[in-house]
Amino acid sequence: MSALFGRWLWLVTWMSVGAVLGGWFGESFFHRLELGAWFGAALGIALGSARDVLRAYRVLRWLRDPSIGSAPRGGELWGELAYYIERALQSRDRLLAQEKGQLTQFLSAIEASPNGVLMLDADEQISWMNSASADHFGLDPQRDRGQRVTNLVRSPAFVGHLQSGDYAEPITVVNHGRNLTLMVLLRRYGEGLKLVITSDVTERLRAEGMRRDFVANVSHEIRTPLTVLSGFVETLVSIPLGEAEQRHVFGLMTQQTQRMQTLVADLLTLAQLEGSPRPPVDRWVDLAGLLGPVETETRGLSKGRHVVDVQFGDVLQGGDEPGGLALAGNPTELMSAFTNLCSNAVRYTPEGGRIVLSWKRRDNGDGVFEVRDSGIGIPREHIPRLTERFYRVDGSRSRESGGTGLGLSIVKHVMQRHGGAIEIDSEPGAGSCFRLVFPAARLRVRSLTSDAST
Ligand code: ADP
Repeated sequence: MSALFGRWLWLVTWMSVGAVLGGWFGESFFHRLELGAWFGAALGIALGSARDVLRAYRVLRWLRDPSIGSAPRGGELWGELAYYIERALQSRDRLLAQEKGQLTQFLSAIEASPNGVLMLDADEQISWMNSASADHFGLDPQRDRGQRVTNLVRSPAFVGHLQSGDYAEPITVVNHGRNLTLMVLLRRYGEGLKLVITSDVTERLRAEGMRRDFVANVSHEIRTPLTVLSGFVETLVSIPLGEAEQRHVFGLMTQQTQRMQTLVADLLTLAQLEGSPRPPVDRWVDLAGLLGPVETETRGLSKGRHVVDVQFGDVLQGGDEPGGLALAGNPTELMSAFTNLCSNAVRYTPEGGRIVLSWKRRDNGDGVFEVRDSGIGIPREHIPRLTERFYRVDGSRSRESGGTGLGLSIVKHVMQRHGGAIEIDSEPGAGSCFRLVFPAARLRVRSLTSDAST
């Protein structure tokens, strides 16, 4: 307001000075005071405004490409005007920068999400996608932007769902190329825009499938001995049996009960392995104390039907490594892994066969417990699946010999928990070799005073 008043005062001054000078000039030279005064006033206004026009021109020129800090200065009207415009521009820029920062943050948050987010415009063309979505659908976030989504994602389930317009429930879409199963949820937003949210459920469905198979397998394994047992009970109730027959029936019943007991024990072992913390790396177990009972148990299971050869005595009693070896881990779990392999060797090696138990150190320091047998062997195609729960090469042979199909699965778990690995070599008819490899870090020469013993 003060600037406007100043401008007005400025023009009035110029006009008055012009009128006075014009009047004097007109009167002095032409004896026309009035005409001179009018002319002088007009000239005063013209000259007074010329400065304004010049300043307005400078402001206009700046406004064509306004940059903060370069606005024409000056305390008068145009300077003040430029100052306020510059201030407005400055606060607009600040707001824009703030909003841009928020948008960048928002997009980075969506980018970091494990869920895929894909935005479609009203023509179902891709306007934006995060990298999870690109990965799920096998798209390129830059190249495919602006493309119609149905030209790129051709799964009939997806296209049908998109066109159906009913997006209440999510659908499952399989991306065969990438071996992925996706849960796809569509949502509308804005005006005709759509959001495609995807999550990778491959692992979840696989785990659910495994859980279902596991329950089915357990039920099947328990149902068989239960059916046999109930048959015997019915027989005992309805038919009077002689003493010898009764003894025979009770013997068979005991077998079935033991089978169920073994199964339940193995299931509990597996559950414990899955639910308990990893074995400590600083609990040292005397290997001699472990392998001694393993040898005894193997001979006990074989009952003299096999030649059992043991090749770890030297290492355990000193030999190359005085004091013997200690292994860091859980003695119960280790014992269970070792005896499972020995029990298999006994069960799958016909009478008269040879079983060799050995302990070796590899050049890199790893320790290897090896069970080699001259038994029936395993066809090559079965080897990768042997450690799956309830996987058997020959189901009836496994059951007849008291197997549950869980032994190698337990061994694999134990080895994983001890940072080790299981290696299997086998040839049908020639025998098998199972190796448990322990990392060097879990082994040390036993100090007779401080190491725990089994
Ligand atoms: P099971 O209780 O049936 O022995 P495991 O998990 O211990 O279950 O072994 C899985 C399958 O691997 C067995 O059913 C058997 O077919 C095969 N197998 C394991 N060890 C041997 C072996 N030493 N010789 C031949 N086959 C073996």
